[in-house]
This record gives sequence, structure tokens and C-alpha cells, in this order.
Amino acid sequence: QKAEWAKLVDAKSLTADGTEFEIAANIGTPKDLEGVNQNGAEGIGLYRTEFLYMDSDEMPTEDEQFEAYKAVLENMGDRPVVVRTMDIGGDKHLPYLQLPEEMNPFLGYRAIRIGLDQDHLLRTQVRALLRSSVYGKLRIMFPMISNLQEFRDAKAIVDEEREKLQADGIEIANDIQLGIMIEIPAAAVLADQFAKEVDFFSIGTNDLIQYTMAADRMNEHVSYLYQPYNPSVLRLIKYVIDAAHKEGKWTGMCGEVAGDQTAVPLLVGMGLDEFSMSASSVLKTRSLMSKLDKSEMEKLVEKALYECTTSDQVAELVKANVSGI
Ligand code: PEP
Ligand code: MG
Repeated sequence: QKAEWAKLVDAKSLTADGTEFEIAANIGTPKDLEGVNQNGAEGIGLYRTEFLYMDSDEMPTEDEQFEAYKAVLENMGDRPVVVRTMDIGGDKHLPYLQLPEEMNPFLGYRAIRIGLDQDHLLRTQVRALLRSSVYGKLRIMFPMISNLQEFRDAKAIVDEEREKLQADGIEIANDIQLGIMIEIPAAAVLADQFAKEVDFFSIGTNDLIQYTMAADRMNEHVSYLYQPYNPSVLRLIKYVIDAAHKEGKWTGMCGEVAGDQTAVPLLVGMGLDEFSMSASSVLKTRSLMSKLDKSEMEKLVEKALYECTTSDQVAELVKANVSGI
């Protein structure tokens, strides 16, 4: 099996009936690029920049951030790199950033909420990103977006920092896509409205499942409710993909579900554009995809979303219809 996968390192990600998808990788630091290249990922679908902050004793400077982003972009060449702005808070803390004690940190002060409130932090990161943009194909993504005003405010910060840098004579790419993570149900439900303003979506199933099912992703007592194939979760995902396509935008997925072999056939059927996963899952997913007929998977999606009533039923349906998973 490993030998079969190795042949796919330089291959495109095609279904048996010839539809092309993009399989990208998630990274936390520039060190992860080795695995990305060894496994033939077609891009970076999620660069979790919070590790840059967590691995440091103080707030990384604009120049330090610039060097990290530039290294990743240069290495990837013309392959796209989706950089997510800092997703601090929740379970991720920084020794040098005082955050409030909270009853429900996952429903609290985290990610874009901190970035917009303490906007000097987000501005520094955005400046570093904009400066790095001439070294590759940069896409900027905001985490934990719950409503359109947050996206508009974040976009305004990007526009303002771009103007300031350009006034200083600094060159910036003019085709940087701006997107959001879909990980809060409120954003998924209004995906049709978001799709008119953003360039792309990336579905963060790790959080989207916990917020949809109201089941803490780290709490073992409710882990049985953390159901990736629950039809409610799957319907949200399909709605987001369809809403993006209606506006000519693309949708990726960077949560664990993107590389889940039971979910991949369904995501192919839904027409997810980009699958981003740990580098070690890229080849086995490309191999699985090459055995699927997209037209068959579309029919499977209809059954999974509208005939199945539980997560287990969906998993059984997929296993009964797709061999080798
Ligand atoms: C997600 O929520 O699915 C995601 C990719 O973000 P993180 O796991 O970093 O919260
Ligand atoms: Mg998340």
C-alpha cells in the first residue's frame, strides 16, 4: 500500500471519473515543510501561526514574523499558502499575554475577538504578512468569525496596513485572497451572505462539530456527542460549499474531517474544493480519491444527509458503498 501511495507524490488529485481536487497540508511551523514536500501536498491549507507566538517568550516582532512567513512562501513557490491569523485563547495561552479567567474559554475571548480588540497585535501580524506576500502565493484567513462585521473590520485592518506600507514604498502582492474559517454555526448558516464578501471559506470541523453539537472537543464525558458524520454537521458543510459556489468562490476544509477516510467520499460528492490535512494523510487520501466516482458520491451525499438520521448510520452507509476504508 505504501508503495502504491509513493507513486502519487507528484500526481494530481483526481477522482476515477476525472474531477480534480486540491489536497493541501496543515502546518504549525516552517519545520513542517519537509513533510509537506515529501508527501506531495499541493498547497498549505492552514498555517497555524499561533505556534510562532507560543514558542516565544515575548510577542514575536513584525520582522520575526515576516521571516517565518517569507520562509514558508518561498519554499512553496507557486503553490498557495493559507496563513491563519493568530488563534490564541480557548486552550492556547501565551505566558506574556494576560487573558481573563473565563468560565467557558471556548465561548470566550479568543482568536479574531482578541485580534480586533487588541488590534495592534493583529496589525503587526498583518503587516508582516503583507510584506511577505511578494515571495509566494499568500492567502490570509481569519479564525472564529461569527458575524460579517468581524470580517469587515479585519479586512479594513488589512486595507489600512496595505496603504501605510505602500506609502512607505514597500511592495505588496495585489492578488492576496482574504477568507474566513467556518467554525461557528452562525457563520455557516449565513454562508450565502459571507460568500458575497470573502474570497474563500475553510471549514474548521474541529470547532464546528463542538459548537454544533454543544460538546466540548476536549471533554471525554461528552466525546460520544462529538459526531463528525452527524447529518446536522454534514448539512451545514454542504450548505457552505453550495453557498460559496453560487458566488464563484471556493471552499476548503482544514479540520480533521478533511483527512478522515469515511468523510472524504462524502466531501468529494459535495464538491469541496480543497482538502487540507496533516501531511501524513495526503497520499492515502489522494489514493482513496482516485478510486471514487464523483457522480456516485453525489448520490451517496443525498442519502447520507436526508435519509440517515444518525452519525453511525452515515458511517455504515459510506462503508457499505466504498470499498477499502
Ligand atoms: C478547526 O477548528 O477545525 C481548526 C482547524 O482549527 P483548530 O483545530 O486550530 O482550532
Ligand atoms: Mg478552530
